[in-house]
Amino acid sequence: MSDLVAHDTVGCHVFARFGQSWRLCVIADPRDGGALVAAGHVEADEDPSTTAARQILAETGHRVRLLPPPLPQDTPPSENASVWRVVPMPVAADNWCDRGHVHRESTVVGAVDRPFAVCGPAEHATRWVERGELDRLRLPDSTRGLLRDLFDVIDQASAVRPRPGRDEELRAELLRR
Ligand SMILES: [Zn+2]
Repeated sequence: MSDLVAHDTVGCHVFARFGQSWRLCVIADPRDGGALVAAGHVEADEDPSTTAARQILAETGHRVRLLPPPLPQDTPPSENASVWRVVPMPVAADNWCDRGHVHRESTVVGAVDRPFAVCGPAEHATRWVERGELDRLRLPDSTRGLLRDLFDVIDQASAVRPRPGRDEELRAELLRR
């Protein structure tokens, strides 16, 4: 048995439309000034969507509309309808673990409908970057690739009505009885 510690985390990719073009919200990395998206550990009483909404509000001051991943219409509702993918990532020690460990990182994507209306104090300075700026940001290459992919689909994804999660379907079914 491995004693490798694993944490559930979320990486929050927040977009807003400025005129005709979409932009991504990035925060300045407090360690080296590079660009980061809001991210955090999923706490005991949370699911990844709850963590994402909490973390985005705390780090950027924005309230987001979480978007479901672009999947075929007949895909059955999933347990967590806002998670686009889950990727295991080896990480260094953090506030939750004093040695190297693994993050099972859920990718969450959200849209801010009114980017100029900030809903609360932000922990970090944020800015909205265009797709063309990705090459100039200091980012891991894997992150850059994901961000390019998200820019490609954000217009379509933001227009999709969220599919009900399993809990909501069950609730609707119980209400019908
Ligand atoms: Zn961790």
